[in-house]
Formats: sequence, C-alpha cells, structure tokens
Amino acid sequence: GNVPLARREEASRAAFEEAKQYIPGGVNSPVRAFKSVGLTPVYVDHGAGSRIYDIDGNSFIDYVCSWGPLIMGHAHPEVVKALQETAVKGTSFGAPTLLETEMAKTVVERVPSVDIVRMVNSGTEATMSAIRLARGTTGRSKILKFEGSYHGHADSLLIKAGSGVATLGLPDSPGVPEGVAVNTITVPYNDLEGVKIAFERYGSEIAAIIVEPIAGNMGVVPPLPGFLEGLRKVTTGYGALLIFDEVMTGFRVNRSCAQGLFGIEPDLTCFGKVIGGGLPVGAYGGKREIMEQIAPSGPIYQAGTLSGNPLAMASGLSTLKLLTPEVYDRLETLGARLEAGLKRNSAETGIPLTINRVGSMVCPFFTEGPVINFETAKTSNLDMFRSYFAKMLDQGISVPPSQFEGMFVSAVHSEQDIDDTIEAHLNALKSL
Ligand code: PMP
Repeated sequence: GNVPLARREEASRAAFEEAKQYIPGGVNSPVRAFKSVGLTPVYVDHGAGSRIYDIDGNSFIDYVCSWGPLIMGHAHPEVVKALQETAVKGTSFGAPTLLETEMAKTVVERVPSVDIVRMVNSGTEATMSAIRLARGTTGRSKILKFEGSYHGHADSLLIKAGSGVATLGLPDSPGVPEGVAVNTITVPYNDLEGVKIAFERYGSEIAAIIVEPIAGNMGVVPPLPGFLEGLRKVTTGYGALLIFDEVMTGFRVNRSCAQGLFGIEPDLTCFGKVIGGGLPVGAYGGKREIMEQIAPSGPIYQAGTLSGNPLAMASGLSTLKLLTPEVYDRLETLGARLEAGLKRNSAETGIPLTINRVGSMVCPFFTEGPVINFETAKTSNLDMFRSYFAKMLDQGISVPPSQFEGMFVSAVHSEQDIDDTIEAHLNALKSL
C-alpha cells in the first residue's frame, strides 16, 4: 500500500544532542523527549493538514495534533489568515480589545453552564485559577481529584497525576510541599463510592471536585453511566463546587463540550487546547455569582500580561468558527472508522486490544480490558506499546509516544489517511 517503510533521523538526532546542552532534557515539555519509548524525538519542520514534516525529510500522518489543539489540522488556511491579519495590527497591548469579547460571547453561547468567562494562557493556569476561586468562594481548603487525571502542573494538582507524570512513572513530584499535598484527596476514576466515602469523612472541608468529564490523560477513559451525575449530586449536597476540566474535551467532543454530550452542568469549566487553535490559550468560566468573585469585580486575584492576547484570540476564534455541527459529524465518522480498523486488526492478529473512544479521541490499550480507571489502564503491555510506537513511526504515522495518551483525529484527516493508518497498525501488530 501507501505506507512508507524507513525513516531517516540523522538531523533529528543531531538537533536533539545540541538542544540537550541548552534546554533541560532537550525539550520544553517532558513527553516530547520520547524518553519512555527510548527513541530520538522527531524534530518538526512544518505541518500541513493532517501531516507533519520533519527536518530529515520524513512525513507523518499526525495523531498528536499538538496534543489536542489542532482539531482543524496543521496550518489551516482560515486560522493562518486570521493570524496574519491580526499580527499586522500589533501583537499585544495589555488593554482590552474587541476580540476578547467576541471570544467570551462565543464560549457563553455554546456552553450553557458558562455565564461568563476569563481568558488565561494555558490549561494549567485555567485549572490553577479555578481551584483558587473554588477555595476562595467556599472558604475550604481541600480538593478532590482522580488518580491518573492530569490537570496541569500547579502544586495542588500534581498528585497521582496522569499524562507525562504517569508516562515517566512519577506519582508525586518533588517540590510540592507536604502542606499542599495533604489538601488533595485522590480517588480512582469512575469510583463514585470512593467519592462518597471521601465526602463522608471530609465533606465540610472539600472546596471542589475537579474532574476530566472524559479522562484523556491515562489514555482515553469515558465516564461510566451515572458517574458524572453522581459527582454533581454529591458536590451539590455538600456545598462543594463541581469543576469540569475540559481542557482536552472542550470543543473537541461536542460543540458544547463533554458537558453538552452528557447533559451535566458543572459550576466551573476549564478550557485550553482547541479554544486556542494552536496558540497558548486557556480559559475558565461558569456561574456568574462565582466568577464575579475574581478581581476586579471581586477579591480573588488572578491576572496575566498576555491574557486575551489578540493573536491567541484570533487563532482560537477562527478555529471555533470552523467547528460546525457537520465537522463534529465528520470527526465521529473518522473516529469510528479508525476504531473499527484497529479492532479488526486485533481480531486478525489475536493481539488483545481495548479501544476506548469518544468521537475523535481514540486510545488502543494493549490489554484485554475493560479500561475504566488508571489501575486498569496500567494493565497494558508497555513493551508491546513501545514496539508498536516505533513501528508506526517507521511507517510514517505519528501517534502519541505513551500508552497513557489518546490519539487525536482532526477534521482534515482523510479517509485514505485513516485507512493507511489501519494498514500500518496491522503491520505493526504482526511484527510484535
Ligand atoms: N487539563 C487537562 C485535562 C489536560 O489534558 C491538560 C494538558 N494536557 C492540562 C489541563 C494542562 O494544560 P496545559 O498543558 O496547557 O497547561
């Protein structure tokens, strides 16, 4: 078929060696170093549509898509045009611009639980600020999060975290003071009983539950029926806030995010990734009476020199405008096609795979499954994953370099891209 067979990597290898002299580990975010798969990272020269092109002249069908933001693919013409038109007018003012209101209006119109929204510069800033707001408005110190969930790298959230923390096997990070860690309660994902027990014990001290409504940082793990409803009920009962971390799922799984898909209204929602369309953006929003406790309307402080930056707003807005209901239908169709192919390959080769998928978030776990939380995700065969990852890369397919991350399909992936990926996947499984 269409699948190339070898890959050059001399230039990437040299680039990585040089970078390591100047940047810790050679990278500005840990998973990029390919440490857990034992390979040299691919140095990207440029991207276009569903593909990335590296400095060695290889091209890859890309399912990392900048770890989620590029739902319309690389260098989408509308996004590039919006950026160009905005850049020539100046890149930052530290004064309000109309683009910020347009962005906020777009979010408020699409997400029913969000009355009002504040822009920040990353998902980490969004969750960190939402936690401060929850603590400030409830007057309580503890928060509850789920094992294997990742909510960015703020101290109180870096406990039993997923994503790169899980990939590198670092359950708790040095540098997080014990006094902070004691205020974070962790419970297995999808374990509503565990949540109830934690609330029976600490209910009057818990400011909020923060949850990925579809977990995406232990691989992809959808909520079991009743789980999110249960969290809504428990938090309401105890006067705690329910925070949906939709940094990954926001505007990816549905036009009104995962909360629209499941019909649950959280008190606060965190956004990132897609909302910036590939520029550094995060946001948090929710009920007006809570959000207006933030400065300057209220006493809880949060600020940012570059928050609501015009380029970031232009990129995010142009991406959101492209996200019509038809685009979500296409993402579902492509995701389903990929899932079906991976399942066929598993059956054909007899290699057990559990494919968890919600729309365009797809995760093949090397395990019999089912995968419903971090414990069960960890039953995956990581040696098999490593070999599979290398085989995919050699065939020109870029999947996330960790079993604990999902693949992201973009709306500009073609049916042929998906079919080539399925063919490469079959070859990879046969070689294991
Ligand atoms: N929350 C979730 C659910 C995420 O997936 C991520 C990033 N992968 C974050 C928060 C942190 O976002 P950022 O990397 O932009 O700080």
